[in-house]
Amino acid sequence: MLQSVTQHNAMQTDLAIQRCINPSCHASYEARTIRTSCDRCGDLLDIEYDWSRAAVPASLSEFEEAWSQRTNPVRFSGVWRFHELLPFVPQDQVITVGEGQTLLQQANHVAKYVGVNTNQLFLQYEGMNPSGSFKDNGMCAAVTHANMMNAKRAACASTVNTSA
Ligand SMILES: [Zn+2]
Repeated sequence: MLQSVTQHNAMQTDLAIQRCINPSCHASYEARTIRTSCDRCGDLLDIEYDWSRAAVPASLSEFEEAWSQRTNPVRFSGVWRFHELLPFVPQDQVITVGEGQTLLQQANHVAKYVGVNTNQLFLQYEGMNPSGSFKDNGMCAAVTHANMMNAKRAACASTVNTSA
């Protein structure tokens, strides 16, 4: 079943689950629960998607329509504008500072070096993120999850960029 990308306020909680990475355990938990490890074996958890349940855009024009709504901070974010793929968080709980909205820059010298046609290779400079780090992209999801779980404080182990 195809769902429109423009149905961005819809919540879909069955698209993603938390899955234990231990192959002999493989326990699963709802995405909307707070866990730092597997209850059964103590190993790490990963997010697993069931892509057959994902909303698939009917055409690329749906992305253009979403981009036309970029005065909405969720649509401006380079991460949350793909909210349909992160449907377990309501849009009004998303935390964003415009991360991931960095420019593509033409890289003809690199294109020539790697054998790609001139004017057909672009690089995205992630140092242009609000904190100067590509890690803004992942951390906005982590902070949003903390907000969604009503966390009053958040901490992270970091050498620099993640904490920024
Ligand atoms: Zn486990």
